[in-house]
Amino acid sequence: MNDVSKPVFDAIIIGAGMSGMYQLHRLRELGLRVLVLEAGTGVGGTWYWNRYPGARFDSESWSYGYSFSEELLREWDWSEHFAGQPEIERYCNLVADKFDLRADIRFGARVSSAHFNEQSGMWELTLTDGARLEARFMVTAIGLLSAPTMPRFDGLADFRGEWSHTGTWPKQGISFEGKRVAVIGTGASGVQAIQEIAKSAEHLTVFQRRPNWCTPLHNGPISSEEMQSIRTGYPEIFARCAETAACFIHTVDPRGTFEVFEEERLAFWERLYAGQGFGIWQGNFRDMLVDRDANQLMSAFVADKIRERVNDQSVAERLIPKDHGFGTRRVPQETRYYEVYNQDNVELVSMLETPISCITEAGVDTTAQSYEFDVIVYATGFDAVTGAFDHIDIRGRGGQPLREKWQEGPRTFVGVMVDDFPNMFMVMGPHAALGNNPRSIEFNVEWIRDVIGHASRNGHHTVEARDESVQAWASFVMQKAQGLLSNEVDSWMTGVNMNVEGKQTRTVVRYTGTAPEYRARCRDVVKGGFTELRFDRVADA
Ligand SMILES: Cc1cc2nc3c(=O)[nH]c(=O)nc-3n(C[C@H](O)[C@H](O)[C@H](O)COP(=O)(O)OP(=O)(O)OC[C@H]3O[C@@H](n4cnc5c(N)ncnc54)[C@H](O)[C@@H]3O)c2cc1C
Repeated sequence: MNDVSKPVFDAIIIGAGMSGMYQLHRLRELGLRVLVLEAGTGVGGTWYWNRYPGARFDSESWSYGYSFSEELLREWDWSEHFAGQPEIERYCNLVADKFDLRADIRFGARVSSAHFNEQSGMWELTLTDGARLEARFMVTAIGLLSAPTMPRFDGLADFRGEWSHTGTWPKQGISFEGKRVAVIGTGASGVQAIQEIAKSAEHLTVFQRRPNWCTPLHNGPISSEEMQSIRTGYPEIFARCAETAACFIHTVDPRGTFEVFEEERLAFWERLYAGQGFGIWQGNFRDMLVDRDANQLMSAFVADKIRERVNDQSVAERLIPKDHGFGTRRVPQETRYYEVYNQDNVELVSMLETPISCITEAGVDTTAQSYEFDVIVYATGFDAVTGAFDHIDIRGRGGQPLREKWQEGPRTFVGVMVDDFPNMFMVMGPHAALGNNPRSIEFNVEWIRDVIGHASRNGHHTVEARDESVQAWASFVMQKAQGLLSNEVDSWMTGVNMNVEGKQTRTVVRYTGTAPEYRARCRDVVKGGFTELRFDRVADA
């Protein structure tokens, strides 16, 4: 008999971001009893936690929203081409209300362990408050950028002023008016925060470890007429996203960099630089991310833009990346970011020249001098892709920890399943297609629903990926990664995070083939009758 203190569900989903919310909606369709466990106190995931000033989309808002409900598409108006966090969080709340999702979400519930019981065929979950639950199916929707990392400086706890990581920003906000502020980190979040904080801080000191190639976002409001035309254009927008390599509306230009005359090439790049969003990254010449000479030329073009925009050329040189080419790390998008360094109240400190030695009661000590601050903002990013998994003690058959299985880097079947971890599914897991995330989320979620539906309809108690399917997918992912310049660079996209123990060596953590190719493979699994999966495997004696 079931113990009342240990409720039993058909499926438990961990996480109530874009992935978890949609998975709940789709699993309900199968008539399953589903529960979502969410560590935060609201829905939205990324858009719930990242409340730092300036947090906004890099995806065009209208290409990011869910596409599955025509009613939702009719009802919701985006106010900007790249909406800010408050608006995106409101959108997530509307979705939760509209589809009555909250009824099956338990907030403030952080999962600390999930063990598969081979006898009962059930997942046994424990929360950090000690509560225990069981479910036949477990879906992780825990995010690939959801485990914030703090830098490894001495004295972090000593600072007497206000501080926050961008990914765990306080709901009440932080005022910078008349304050001496430090921002540590110049990745995508740091860039967004810096250009905003510089507006009100009395003095802003930016500590930069390594510069990134940032390009203009060119955000703008969406008028009601424009929203109307976006609304009628939704079928074409989503059809286009379904065709492009990374699910953005931007398509790679089929020409090679050296196939066009210089004048034409420069005119094309000027257009991309003046255009909106990721066009310059995702819609550039086809060889920009694989041909070293092409990449160097493009990098030189962007470097000149930085030189034009920053008055003090010694500052400009510090802002120009020297250790990686354009687009080989995630490209932060900016709005007058470089001009911020022309303001009297802003100072750039290169941690390559004068590294931070420690955090003090009063502020920050570098090898050159001591700084005093009222506020320190840590824009030091996330333990990406596998970080949220590492924070849960997940064990599959034979009590094997997932952490141990992934010691040499993650291995999955289409980023969704892991051999020896029956009835466990991952939305946006390692080696799944990413890009403009919701397009991939919708696909993953529906695929998971189809596999669970197939297993349930056919009375199977367990479903898992065959180890040979996992190996085949891992080889395919490795093969796709060959020749990409981005794989020669340390970044979260190559599994490197200097602030996380054991993440100093590059691994292939991302699937870098195209999204259409990924979806075709997943569809083949369904069409082929799920032969890559194993149902009702009898436990080894
Ligand atoms: C600042 C920022 C900007 C971004 N901008 C874009 C963009 O413009 N376009 C784009 O496509 N993508 C963007 N992303 C990526 C973004 O994460 C995805 O678009 C999308 O929101 C992911 O949704 P998700 O539900 O998979 O994960 P998340 O939104 O990360 O949600 C995961 C949820 O799981 C919960 N969780 C994790 N572990 C546990 C646990 N142990 N127990 C209980 N709950 C847990 C977390 O609290 C969180 O709410 C951005 C990410 C960041 C950080």
